Amino acid sequence: MANTETDILCAPGLEDLPPLPMDAKSLVNDFTHHYFHHLGRDRNCRNIRYNYQALAFTVRERLIERWNNTRYAYIDADTKTGYYLSLEFLMGRALGNAMLNLGLDDAAHRAMEQLGIRLEQVAEEEIDAGLGNGGLGRLAACFLDSCATLQLPVMGYGIRYEYGMFRQRIENGRQVEEPDHWLRDGNPWEMERPEYTQRIRFGGRTECSRNDDGSLTHRWLDTHDILAVPYDLPIPGYKNGTVNTLRLWKSAATDAFDLQEFNAGSYTESVAMKNEAENITMVLYPNDASENGKELRLRQQYFLASASLQDVLARWKQRQGEVFGHFAERNVFQLNDTHPSCAVPELMRLLMDEKGMGWDEAWSVTTRTMAYTNHTLLPEALEKWPVPLFRQLLPRLLEIILEINARFLAEVSSRWPGDNERLRNMSIIEEGPVPQVRMAYLAIVGSFSVNGVAALHSQLLVQGLFRDFYELWPEKFNNKTNGVTPRRWLVKCNPGLASLIAGRIGEGFIADLGRISQVAPLADDPEFRSKWHAVKKANKERLAAVVLDQCGVPFNPESLFDVQVKRIHEYKRQLLNVLHVIHLYDRIKRGDTGEWTNRCVLIGGKAAPGYHMAKLIIKLIGNVAKVVNEDPLVGDRLKVAFFPNYRVTAMEVICPGTDLSEQISTAGKEASGTGNMKFMMNGAITIGTLDGANIEIREEVGDENFFVFGLTAEEVEHQRRSYNPAGIIAADPDLNRVLQLLTSGHFNMFEAGLFDPIIQAIVNPGDPWMVAADFRSYVQAQKRAAAAYLDREAWTRMSIVNSARSGKFSTDRTIAEYNEEIWRLRPVRPLPLVPSEPNGKL
Ligand SMILES: *Cc1c(COP(=O)(O)O)cnc(C)c1O
Repeated sequence: MANTETDILCAPGLEDLPPLPMDAKSLVNDFTHHYFHHLGRDRNCRNIRYNYQALAFTVRERLIERWNNTRYAYIDADTKTGYYLSLEFLMGRALGNAMLNLGLDDAAHRAMEQLGIRLEQVAEEEIDAGLGNGGLGRLAACFLDSCATLQLPVMGYGIRYEYGMFRQRIENGRQVEEPDHWLRDGNPWEMERPEYTQRIRFGGRTECSRNDDGSLTHRWLDTHDILAVPYDLPIPGYKNGTVNTLRLWKSAATDAFDLQEFNAGSYTESVAMKNEAENITMVLYPNDASENGKELRLRQQYFLASASLQDVLARWKQRQGEVFGHFAERNVFQLNDTHPSCAVPELMRLLMDEKGMGWDEAWSVTTRTMAYTNHTLLPEALEKWPVPLFRQLLPRLLEIILEINARFLAEVSSRWPGDNERLRNMSIIEEGPVPQVRMAYLAIVGSFSVNGVAALHSQLLVQGLFRDFYELWPEKFNNKTNGVTPRRWLVKCNPGLASLIAGRIGEGFIADLGRISQVAPLADDPEFRSKWHAVKKANKERLAAVVLDQCGVPFNPESLFDVQVKRIHEYKRQLLNVLHVIHLYDRIKRGDTGEWTNRCVLIGGKAAPGYHMAKLIIKLIGNVAKVVNEDPLVGDRLKVAFFPNYRVTAMEVICPGTDLSEQISTAGKEASGTGNMKFMMNGAITIGTLDGANIEIREEVGDENFFVFGLTAEEVEHQRRSYNPAGIIAADPDLNRVLQLLTSGHFNMFEAGLFDPIIQAIVNPGDPWMVAADFRSYVQAQKRAAAAYLDREAWTRMSIVNSARSGKFSTDRTIAEYNEEIWRLRPVRPLPLVPSEPNGKL
C-alpha cells in the first residue's frame, strides 16, 4: 500500500518558486498571516500560545524549503545512507534551535520587537519533546544535530510516543508522576506522511514448505497486523542549507483487521481492538539504565525495527529495483543500544521471506549493514526476553534467531572444540527454567561494529562483559567517546558566553569546536576574565531566579553553585552528595566554619516510578534541604534545593549557571556521561571520579583544573571483596557523625524509620556502589574546591580553561569518528536556494 502516490507528479514546477526571504519584515508578514488566516485568531486573543504557533509555522516554512532541497540533493548524489535507530530521542524544544541553525535569530528578534512581543516569552510556550529518559535519548538528539551540520545523509528512526517522559512534581518532598501529554495542542514541527505507512505483523504461526528446486519457503500466517504511520521532523544543520529527517512511527489499527471482526458481528469489539493497536506507541517506558521485561516494550521494539527496515527497503526498491546484492554498500544502521536489535533478525526475514534471498547472502548483507552501540555495563540493564514470549509474539523472528545461534555456535565450537562452557556462555539463548534471548549477544553476532561510549567503558567491555566475543572478533570492537552539540549546549543556552567568545575568536568555533582552544591564552587576560566572570554571574542570577520560582529556595549568586542533575540512580550516587551536605551542616552546627565558602547545592532528576530506593533518596534530599534551609544558624553558608521536573529545557538554564559539576558515580559504572560535558563547555569545573568520560575531561583540562577523588574502577573491583563500611565509618569521625545524624532521625523527626533502608544500604558490606569507601576522599576534594572558589581570579581562570578544552566533546567530533570508522558516508551539499529579490514575495 505504501508509495503508490509517488509515481504521480503531483506538484509540477513548485521548485521554481523563489525561496522565502529571511529578513525581519518578511517574518512579520508571515507571522501575521499565520496568526490571523491560518490559526484564525484576532486582536482580542490574549493567549500567547498562538504567538508561539504562528512563529513556529513561519520558521517551519523556511525549514521545509531546505528540507526538500536536501532530499533532492541526496537523491541526485545517489550515495550511501545511514540510519540511526533509537527507541528514544530526547529533543527538547525545537523553535530556538531551528532559528539558531537557520541563522534567523536576529531577524526573529527584530520581527517580534516590531510586533511588541517578547521572543523569549513566546519560546517558553513550547513543550519539550521528551521522548527519552536521559543520556541515551539526548545523545541521539545531539547526534542528529551533528549529522545535519556535517551534511551527512543520516536519517533518525524512532517512536512517536503519545506520552513522553512523565512530568515530575514534588509533594511533601516526594516524587509524584504526571502524564506528559505533549501533543495536546498539536505539534507544528511534525509532518504526517500517511503515504509511507507500513504494515507490522504480530502473533500468528509459521509454516515451512519445500519448493520444487529443494529450497524452503517460510510463511508467517494468521498474524494480527498493525499499521505504522510516519511523522517526520526536520533536523536543520548549522547554517548550511541541510535539513535532515527524524521519522517517528505511530501505531494505528488496520481497517482489514477491524473488518474481519465486523463481519463476524462483533462491531464494538472490533472498534475496541483499535485501542490495542494504538497502545503500542502510547507511552515511553520511564526506566533509565534498567531493562523492563514487559511484553508491550518488546512490541515497541519490534514495531520500530520492522517499520524502519520496511521503509528503507521500499525506498531502495523504488530507486534500485528488486536487486539487493549491493544493499550493504549503500546502507548502514546504527543501533542505539540493544533496544532496536530486533532489526538483525527482521532484516534477515525481509530479505529471505519477502525478497527471496538465501540464508548466506541475507546474512552477509545483514552483518555488513548493522552496527551496535553499547551504553552500559550494569547487569540489570542487559536486555533479555523469554523465549516463550518471543515465540508467541514474533514466531518467525524466533526461528531466525535460533538459526543464527545454531550457525554461530558451530563457528565457536570449530574455533574452540570441546569448550562447552564457552558455548554456554556465548550462546544467544541463555539456558534456565525459562530460556531467554540475550539481545546484546544477538546484536554483537549480527553487527560488523560494536562500540562503547568512552575510552574506559570500551576497555571494560572487551575485558569483561564481551570478553569472549572480543577474543573471537577483535576487529569488531571500537570506542566512540560521546559528545554534546555545541549549538544547543553552548550557543543557544549561553548566548552571553558564546558572544564573549565570538567577540575574541570569531564564530568559527560553533561548527568547529576545536577552535574554542583559542580562548585558553585569554585566561591570563584580567579584562577577559572579568568579562567571563560577569557572564557567569548573570547566568547564576538567571538560575537563582528559576530556583526561587521552582523550589522556593533563595540562592545567593555570590555563593558557590554546586550542581548534580541527572537521573536518580544509586550508581550515580546522589546519596554521596547528600552525605557531604549533611557533613557541611554538621560542621556549621559545631561552629567549624573557619575559611568557609558559602555554597548552594542543587540536585535534580527523575526516578523511575518503580525504583523505590531512588524515590527515597529524593525524599531524603527534600528533608535535609528543609532542615538546612530553615536553620537560622546556617544562613547563607549553605542552601539546598531539589529541582523538580529536570529535563532538557531545565538543563539549558542550569549548566550555564553552575560553578561546580558533580560527576560522582562509582568508578566503572557510568559508561560515559554527557551532562559532565555540557557543564564543562559552559565553564563549570568538575568534581568527579575516574569514571566514564570524566577521565577524558580530566586529560583535556589537566589535573589542576579538575577535582578528582575516589577509587579507580580497578580499585573498586579489588576492594569489593574485603569491603567493610562499618570499619570505615568507625575510623572516620566526620562520617560517623553524619550517620549519627541520620540514625538519630534528625531529618525525619515525624517520620520514624523512614530512611532506614538508606542507612542499611550504606553500612551493607555488599553495597555495590561503595558509598562509604569514597566519602573521605570526596570530602577532601570538596574542601579543595571550596578553597579554590575563594580565589575568584584563579577560579575564573579554571572556568575559562574548562570551556577552552571542551573541543573534543562536541558530537561533531564523535560523529566524524562514527563516519570515518563505521559508516563511511560521503557528505552531500544541497544546491543553494536561489535568493529572491529583497521582500520579493511581498
Ligand atoms: C544531558 C542530559 C542527561 C544526561 O546526564 P548525565 O549526567 O550524563 O546522566 C540526562 N537528562 C537530560 C535532560 C540531559 O540534558
